[in-house]
Amino acid sequence: MRNQISNNPAYHSVAEGLISINPEGIITGWNEEAERIFGYPAKEAVGENISLILCEAVFQNEKSIIRNLKKGGDEHYEAECKDKNGKRIFISFNAFPEKDTAGNLTGINQFIKDISAQKLADEKQAVLAAIVNSSDDAIISKTLDGIITSWNRSATRMFGFTEKEAIGKHISIIIPKDRISDEALIINNIRNGKKIDHFETLRAAKDGTKRHISLSVSPLKNSKGKIIGASKIARDISIRIEAEKQRELYTERLRELSNYKDEFMVMASHELKTPLTVILANLQILEIKMEEDPRKDFVEKTIRQVKKLSGLISNLLDVSKIHAGKLDLEPTLFDLNILIEEISSNLQRTTKNQEIIFNSHNKELMINADKGKIEQVVVNIIGNAIKYSSDSSKIIIDATRKGKNIVVDVSDEGIGIPEKDIGNIFLRFYRVSGSASSFAGSGVGLYISSEIIKSHAGKIWAESKIGKGSVFHFSIPAAN
Ligand code: ADP
Repeated sequence: MRNQISNNPAYHSVAEGLISINPEGIITGWNEEAERIFGYPAKEAVGENISLILCEAVFQNEKSIIRNLKKGGDEHYEAECKDKNGKRIFISFNAFPEKDTAGNLTGINQFIKDISAQKLADEKQAVLAAIVNSSDDAIISKTLDGIITSWNRSATRMFGFTEKEAIGKHISIIIPKDRISDEALIINNIRNGKKIDHFETLRAAKDGTKRHISLSVSPLKNSKGKIIGASKIARDISIRIEAEKQRELYTERLRELSNYKDEFMVMASHELKTPLTVILANLQILEIKMEEDPRKDFVEKTIRQVKKLSGLISNLLDVSKIHAGKLDLEPTLFDLNILIEEISSNLQRTTKNQEIIFNSHNKELMINADKGKIEQVVVNIIGNAIKYSSDSSKIIIDATRKGKNIVVDVSDEGIGIPEKDIGNIFLRFYRVSGSASSFAGSGVGLYISSEIIKSHAGKIWAESKIGKGSVFHFSIPAAN
């Protein structure tokens, strides 16, 4: 059943693949290259229908090709085929009809070429092109002279120029005049093989509007590795920049409002303190004058509450001042020994159970500090020791010169502080929950103390064991 060509020995020496079929589509010739491409030896292929190697859709098409060839005319086509293992391969066919002397089609010789590699590369290229085109970022390539060579859809969306308008033009069509120097810098980096990552700049659209973009530019190399241009990805960051501007505006507004609030707090607490001081002074005079009057008890109770109120307002004033950065210091030279001694004996009067023991380890402990504020710290720490150890019998205070500093330790045998809280007790309004919260307090004393000590270049810290007691320490630079 072999046609004229396949009978010829030269048929098998053709370097290209060669397959012959009769007008019914039966394979009549099959050379060695066809064997290599499809995996079928000639004896298995010859006599079979051409559908042996064609995919179904292609097979239907082949029938129409045969019809076409019968009418005359050569055909070139590419088709998806399958080899002996069922693997997809792409074949390029060049079909030549064979006719008898009467002009009737007697067979078709088809030169075949395996073009799978090229086809896969084309497919990959098409996928890449689809990715580039569907990207939200503008993707543009250009030569080293800045001539645009590719332009995706997002580039059109972002800059307004169509692909047709942009390709062949210089990249400067989207660079604002005052940013033209960017380009020289970018190209210089690219020539040296350097990438540019997330460079934030401005670009201009066709209608002149400016776009905030983040630019990444990479060198483009040819198959020999030579740099021939650059590919740039531009991300529109206008929305982010706008949001950042808004955030800055809000932050600024918040800062202003916070300053107003601080100023108001300072003013309000100051104004509250003045009449309160007068009330207290008058009440104290009244207390003295009442002598043995049984109603004196009411005055004493009122004095205690007014003092409490006055303390709260002072704390409020201090917190506001610290927040506003207005904790002004008025340093004087004084002996810390004397101050602690005075405070201890004053506070001793407020407690009957606990004995306050002060051990000074040096004759003199001179410091150059704001006396009123250091007094506030010592009162707060000893006051806390009294408050949080009401069932214990003693509070011990030690003051010692250590190198250039003076260190004061206040130890109590009270309720102690849980380990998880010890790092937070110097924070504003922090109070330990649980047993400690049953004691009156506002949670600002230690915060104020810590700010005062820090503003004197000192340190404050605490150690504690729950149920055993606490030791509060502060250190402050000595005057000499
Ligand atoms: P407060 O007015 O609540 O006493 P502070 O700022 O002085 O505020 O103290 C913060 C918290 O630290 C207190 O609420 C308490 O829980 C804890 N604390 C402070 N001193 C002691 C202490 N000597 N013993 C146990 N807990 C303490």
